[in-house]
Amino acid sequence: MRIINETIEGYAVSFTSGESEILKRIRKENAGRKDIGMLSGFYQGRFLAFISKIMRPRRILEIGTYLGYSALCLAEGLSEDGKVITIDINAETQQKARVYWQESEFSDKIEALVGDATQIIPTLNEVFDIVFIDADKENYSTYYDLVFPKLRVGGVILADNVLWSGKVLDFASDKDATALHRFNQKVQSDWRTSNILLTIRDGLMLIRKEKS
Ligand code: SAH
Ligand code: CA
Repeated sequence: MRIINETIEGYAVSFTSGESEILKRIRKENAGRKDIGMLSGFYQGRFLAFISKIMRPRRILEIGTYLGYSALCLAEGLSEDGKVITIDINAETQQKARVYWQESEFSDKIEALVGDATQIIPTLNEVFDIVFIDADKENYSTYYDLVFPKLRVGGVILADNVLWSGKVLDFASDKDATALHRFNQKVQSDWRTSNILLTIRDGLMLIRKEKS
């Protein structure tokens, strides 16, 4: 299911500020990849950059680097001494991401870690302002529990693909849809937070930590 009408989304895109040349290149040079659907894309990328600019974060954690597109978008709002820590289990795509970052103004502000995020997150000794969850869908609830104690009060978790092309409506038919539906239920019932599920692209859940 395409959630947003293509024509109206096109209109919205035409009234949205543009992206940097390097971001354009990441999208263009990889357009033929079979797995390219995983990349955030222009419109969501601009949303991530906008949220980051409003928040001026010092520490961002990203779970799921892929080609480094969303990490670069999130980096746009970093404070002077800020950095993005991004994790991916795929060393090959993350290496491509590093090459792109080197050509950007944020190369020394992005730290990339290779490995299983469920193993790496517990080793991180940081307090995060923003966490972007965008890796394997069955682990979203695990990631939520792992990052929550490391998120400052007032900090925000963004979780991507939470509508799973609409499959959450018939969640029992798909393993990932079931996991995402359970995640959405978990977030909705957490009294420590406030949340809003935005119908941007494939569904983006915004969660603000109100108390510990
Ligand atoms: N955030 C990127 C897209 C990420 S795609 C963007 O918007 O541009 C999802 C990524 O999660 C893939 O690169 C995949 O290798 C990674 N991934 C899957 N399982 C993982 C795990 N257990 N730990 C870390 N990364 C994982
Ligand atoms: Ca995604």
